[in-house]
Amino acid sequence: MTRVFNFSAGPAALPESVLRQAADEMLDWHGSGMSVMEMSHRGKEFIAIHAEAEALLRELLAVPANYKVLFIQGGAMAENAIVPMNMLRGKTGADYINTGEWSKKSIKEAGKFAKVNVAASSESTNFDRIPKRDTWRLDPFAAYVHICSNETIGGVEYHFTPDVGDVPLVADMSSSIMSRPVDVTKYGLIYGGAQKNIGPAGVTLVIVRDDLIGQALPITPSAFDYKQQADNDSMLNTPPTYAIYIAGLVFNWIKSQGGLAGIERRNRAKAALLYDALDASEFFSSPVAREDRSLMNVPFKLKDESLEAAFLKGAQERSMIQLKGHRSVGGMRASIYNAMSLEGVQSLVAYMKEFEARHG
Ligand SMILES: *Cc1c(COP(=O)(O)O)cnc(C)c1O
Repeated sequence: MTRVFNFSAGPAALPESVLRQAADEMLDWHGSGMSVMEMSHRGKEFIAIHAEAEALLRELLAVPANYKVLFIQGGAMAENAIVPMNMLRGKTGADYINTGEWSKKSIKEAGKFAKVNVAASSESTNFDRIPKRDTWRLDPFAAYVHICSNETIGGVEYHFTPDVGDVPLVADMSSSIMSRPVDVTKYGLIYGGAQKNIGPAGVTLVIVRDDLIGQALPITPSAFDYKQQADNDSMLNTPPTYAIYIAGLVFNWIKSQGGLAGIERRNRAKAALLYDALDASEFFSSPVAREDRSLMNVPFKLKDESLEAAFLKGAQERSMIQLKGHRSVGGMRASIYNAMSLEGVQSLVAYMKEFEARHG
């Protein structure tokens, strides 16, 4: 068996030990005689799996007791609508910070439910940075301020938590959650799809302060009403059971790596290796402002774009896949989430040097 170095932006690589454990437990979970996929979500086995996943998440992220943790369906795209439905709370408008493709999607969807005020944008510089906090034109009456913590396509990431006063801060953390510690108390709501850093596609994580729920718009589908889901331990309807189980195994793996502090150290070392190689090169370059570069998604350009296909082919031959940039921005992108090993990044950097020596 050969496993590739998978630089996919999502669904993304999972830790091999997690996949092995899932394989071992596939036919008979802990003597239950069943696969997790076959269990009733209301049976004692699955309730234990669910409770453990939530407890581990709370421990790793230090989620305070006054926050609800929900594991629901729909992905982050659905959350773009579900967030305004739940979070307007009698207000009409919300502030959004536009830092790239995922912010734009959130803004478009929220516009169906709310008066959206784009309080800051980096569009004029091609989304190469996070707009400085002192340039944001926030509305003091906004229901919330929405940010995308890490733009998966553009590769810009917040390396600070913006102070937005008493207005709740809402963050799409799909591609950065669990990559380093976060001060949850600074947020009203954190959400994200699982398929980048948590587990398989199909489960969406929502962490929400409990005083903000219970005022969803009347049109809100019950399955997407945070209060109803919280009151039913995310089991108002059938949750994505297998994805929650794998998320729990991933959380255990994170714990074994020294928790989020240990994971952050690894992630910083990987990102530094790659960015240093880009900055030292005459042939490859990063389009992102230094202080806002993502630790998770690293877009890069080749000086000669006509060599992109050759670069990707050579990478594939060396077992490195999914390095093509998103179709909306072109170029290359290496996604180096938690499960990407240092060896994977070393292998990429070595190949880049070799390629530059040959073609540069
Ligand atoms: C992947 C991603 C999404 C979309 O998630 P889906 O699960 O496909 O709906 C939204 N926001 C960000 C930042 C993402 O990385």
